[in-house]
Amino acid sequence: MVAVSQLLRARVARILVWTLALVPLVFFALGVRLSDFANLAAVLNLLGRLSGVLGLAFLLLSAALSARVPGFDQPFGGLTKLWKTHHRLGAAALLLLMAHPLLLAFSAQVHDSSLAFATLFPPLSDLATWSGWLALVLMMVFLAPSFSFFGPPDYERWKRVHQLAALAVIFSLIHTFLFSRTMPAWLDLVIWTIFAALALGAVLWRFVFSRRVGRLPYTVVDIERPANNVIEMTLEPRRRPLQYHAGNFVYMTPFDRDLDNGYGEEHPYTLSSSPLESNLRIAIKDLGNASRALQAINLGARVTVEGPFGRFFKSPDAVPRPELWVSGGIGVTPFLARMRHLSALDEGGDIRFIYCVQDEARALYLPELEKLAASIPGCKLVAHYFYREGPLTRTFLREHCGDIEQREVYICGPQPLNRLVQSHLRALGVPRAAIHSEEFELL
Ligand SMILES: Cc1cc2nc3c(=O)[nH]c(=O)nc-3n(C[C@H](O)[C@H](O)[C@H](O)COP(=O)(O)OP(=O)(O)OC[C@H]3O[C@@H](n4cnc5c(N)ncnc54)[C@H](O)[C@@H]3O)c2cc1C
Repeated sequence: MVAVSQLLRARVARILVWTLALVPLVFFALGVRLSDFANLAAVLNLLGRLSGVLGLAFLLLSAALSARVPGFDQPFGGLTKLWKTHHRLGAAALLLLMAHPLLLAFSAQVHDSSLAFATLFPPLSDLATWSGWLALVLMMVFLAPSFSFFGPPDYERWKRVHQLAALAVIFSLIHTFLFSRTMPAWLDLVIWTIFAALALGAVLWRFVFSRRVGRLPYTVVDIERPANNVIEMTLEPRRRPLQYHAGNFVYMTPFDRDLDNGYGEEHPYTLSSSPLESNLRIAIKDLGNASRALQAINLGARVTVEGPFGRFFKSPDAVPRPELWVSGGIGVTPFLARMRHLSALDEGGDIRFIYCVQDEARALYLPELEKLAASIPGCKLVAHYFYREGPLTRTFLREHCGDIEQREVYICGPQPLNRLVQSHLRALGVPRAAIHSEEFELL
């Protein structure tokens, strides 16, 4: 029931965003006249204007969704899910805005090809058209890496290029306001001002205010090494501490000049501490340049933490339901946080936890997890060793969780494990609404 209502809320939030994106279309339709269907040129012109209106609305809303305001991601089921809507709106905007000049040129072509050329490439003094071109070119440059046209992008480079989106938004607004002939003039002004305010507000929050007020300063006061490629840092607040739930993640930015890589770079990490602890804990595996460099962070280093984000586990106020957890590799962190929290609260639960590891040497935190499971009434932990048992099977799931279809299932681990478990769960009759997964990938 709880899961269904969460799923429903996420669906409603997505539908609301898409409905809002279609609002300009309604006002555009009010301005359509019979003469817009008089001949092929008129229809192409109408479609050209329509694709411009829709493309701009999608682009501005996509920008508005990039704000990353803590809490704003909750109705969408977490930031990773919210960003799927952001990506889809962005992709739809790009396609529509690419079609926009072509349709207008085709419409002019029906009359005369020199008119088509002049429509696309007017004199340089025509700021309205050239600002539109600039916006489109910027969009193509910033979005191309997102579609992996040139192979998997380097994350930090991708992010810097993606930020060109802010410029594309500004130029597309200049284009729209200068042309101002997509709808009746006053409507043009009202609608695009509201959309622009949402988009620019998001951009301002993201690049100005969140850096000043959203990032909380912390100091690294302890470093544990649960494996040779994993550290767990303990962070002490320098000002007010972050409030969060088990399973939330934050953007952490280190400011340690001795780091070989990643100084001042923000990366998402799940909090592995219980929300009752006065300090934060974050376990980091070396999965790339910045996370590898972090393995050598100094005690006393300054970091900032922005968040919390994500909505992995159901809200603590929800009616408790039997649960199955499946984790692999560093995907153990949200479960570690939850177990530490349940143990600190002295609370139990009906929990089956299948922890997938390669072999004993890579069973991160296993001794602590076993101890925690023993202290939490109703919690049963079983380790699945790949080298002995091969990939996780339905038989293994059924053997260790006989009533699997009655449970809320939480999965966090590498993508192949995530996909395998999801396909087993569906085959075993677990409803989609009862499956919750967190991916450590945002692209
Ligand atoms: C919601 C979430 C929670 C996570 N929790 C943990 C955790 O608890 N412990 C842990 O060790 N790792 C966690 N990660 C993964 C961690 O963010 C990446 O390992 C880290 O950002 C890699 O950065 P890098 O520069 O070392 O590697 P790179 O070589 O730059 O990147 C390796 C891959 O990591 C991803 N990545 C890199 N930078 C970012 C970024 N800023 N935002 C999103 N993805 C990025 C990209 O998919 C990239 O392909 C989490 C990721 C997400 C999205």
